[in-house]
Amino acid sequence: MKVAILSAMREEITPFLEKYPHYSVQEVGGNTYYLVKAEGYEIILAYSKIGKVHSALSASTMILHFGAEKLIFSGVAGGLSPKLKVGDLVIANKLCQYDVDISAFGHPLGFIPESSVYIQADQKLNALAKTVAQEMGIGLHEGIIASGDSFIASAEKKKWLIETFGADAVEMEGASVANVCHLLKIPFCILRSISDSADGEADVSFDEFLESSAKISADFVEAMLKKGL
Ligand code: SAH
Repeated sequence: MKVAILSAMREEITPFLEKYPHYSVQEVGGNTYYLVKAEGYEIILAYSKIGKVHSALSASTMILHFGAEKLIFSGVAGGLSPKLKVGDLVIANKLCQYDVDISAFGHPLGFIPESSVYIQADQKLNALAKTVAQEMGIGLHEGIIASGDSFIASAEKKKWLIETFGADAVEMEGASVANVCHLLKIPFCILRSISDSADGEADVSFDEFLESSAKISADFVEAMLKKGL
């Protein structure tokens, strides 16, 4: 089976390249795709660069160009739910683009005509993630992930995301990847480890915990692969 593992930043994909060093590389559209056989899969690895546009291009490339049949996003996020602390793992049960606003026409925030505010993640992959977490004896939070093209670092914006979208975590790629996978009918799982709390200290926390949280997320994906997608 061909599995795509996508991240946004180099730091998020590095742990995988260290785990699976016998890769070949292909450049498409300004990004490098790392191709490797490991854990019984053909794995396509890449970091897209930050944001919804870059991640949509990479997810599309992994599916349409490289033939990925399932996709896992691995990376870090800002925690919105008070239950989520730095290093905790979260999977999305559904995702939204919080920065879509055509409310001038009477639509709800996040809504795009012929689409919907929320995109549901794949229940089977999420169930697998929960089983793996249980077997590893670690906590795994399942909730709403809100994505947009901003780094959230204020109590005010954080409160708005919770109140408006019921969001548990915020990041900059999940919903765009979810949209691509949903439209191309590819099962996906968006996994994040918390790097910061999207508050006034988010930038400092992010810089401190990016690498360790990225590793926590990557180690968990490895366990999912070993369990069998
Ligand atoms: N420090 C980086 C920029 C990081 S942007 C640089 O200067 O290059 C934040 C990245 O981590 C995005 O890919 C996003 O998905 C995730 N993220 C982590 N915490 C976030 C937060 N509080 N708000 C939005 N995105 C966050």
